[in-house]
Amino acid sequence: MESGGRRQTMDTVAVHGGERRPGLEGSLVFPIFQGTVYTVPPGTDYHDIGYIRLSSTPSQRYLHDKLAALEGAEAAVAAASGMAALSAALLSCLKAGDHLLASNDLYGGTRDLLTHHAADLGWSCTFVDGRPESWEAAVRGETRAFLLETISNPLMRVPRLREAVALARRRGLVTILDNTFASPVNFRPLDQGVDLVFHSATKYLNGHSDLVAGCVAGARARVEAVRRVLNHFGGSLDPHAGYLLARGIKTLALRVRQQNATGLALAAFLEAHPKVAGVNYPGLPSHPDHAHARELMSGFGGMLSLRVRGGAAAADRFLAALRVPYVAPSLGGVETLATRPALTSHAGWTAEERARLGIDDDLVRVSCGIEGADDLLEDFGRALDAA
Ligand code: PLP
Repeated sequence: MESGGRRQTMDTVAVHGGERRPGLEGSLVFPIFQGTVYTVPPGTDYHDIGYIRLSSTPSQRYLHDKLAALEGAEAAVAAASGMAALSAALLSCLKAGDHLLASNDLYGGTRDLLTHHAADLGWSCTFVDGRPESWEAAVRGETRAFLLETISNPLMRVPRLREAVALARRRGLVTILDNTFASPVNFRPLDQGVDLVFHSATKYLNGHSDLVAGCVAGARARVEAVRRVLNHFGGSLDPHAGYLLARGIKTLALRVRQQNATGLALAAFLEAHPKVAGVNYPGLPSHPDHAHARELMSGFGGMLSLRVRGGAAAADRFLAALRVPYVAPSLGGVETLATRPALTSHAGWTAEERARLGIDDDLVRVSCGIEGADDLLEDFGRALDAA
């Protein structure tokens, strides 16, 4: 939303973006339209029929406008999960025989999707590391897309996105970016020339660890292609979950600002702690991507990882001693979570694969919630002393 030529802050966009004014019956809150089907004039195109699987009902269209406002996109579409959003985005731009370039440190589920299903769909895929100079060599005549994440899991690497977009422009590739970890509060990929941005809205966008959803945003024609894939494969978001998601989004900027501040404070505290062998957080000057992360992002997020001295057993003792965080996978909610990726998000990888990427057994990943930072620092300090 523009306000007198100036772009509105994310705080305002999160609250008011996509809202209907005046609201129905004067309501400030968009209601849940539970109906599965709506009357249609003769001659309506199939994809424009008001039907719940086609993501075209009033609650779904409202949510799409809200999601588009967040990413500064022409259009957005919600999906039944982050993986549904990703699958639909990939299916919208790849056909049999096409080749995909993908980061080698993608979220485990994304990597699994590619390693288990890409070949069946007739896609080939090359996993590339973070060095832009190696990317060009990996591009083939049939390469169609480049899949990346703003902040990788669990080492919090930040790829050189400007170089990725420049390569994609030169070679005619569609850039698809998972912006889940950064959230649109810290980074708006479309402003940087990314073509399709997607989220696991299960995480920060909703923020309350109580639903599963995904979304894809970008230019109208691209998003419409994604919606049509979803329409055919099935994967629309139920309006009840959509209602909760829109409600969660209203506090997104507030939550993420607090999570940024806590992430930075906790990372600095942990880095100085004698029981910690290393901390991965892009906001720390010691992080290998700190310099370009600073240029790209307005905040470094609430995700960090640390290595506990003493190996996996010490990491387990540390986790067992934590009192404020929950020991659980997932991320982006109001409660702080801690987990060992070797046992959860990357359990499906072989020990060699994990070791090659630096995902050691003593690595603990933390998703900062919105609790008081001092309470968290005290709790982490105490738990490390007990490790
Ligand atoms: N992308 C990232 C970075 C994730 O962490 C996850 C889930 O953990 C996903 C995508 C998949 O999202 P969902 O679980 O909503 O399908």
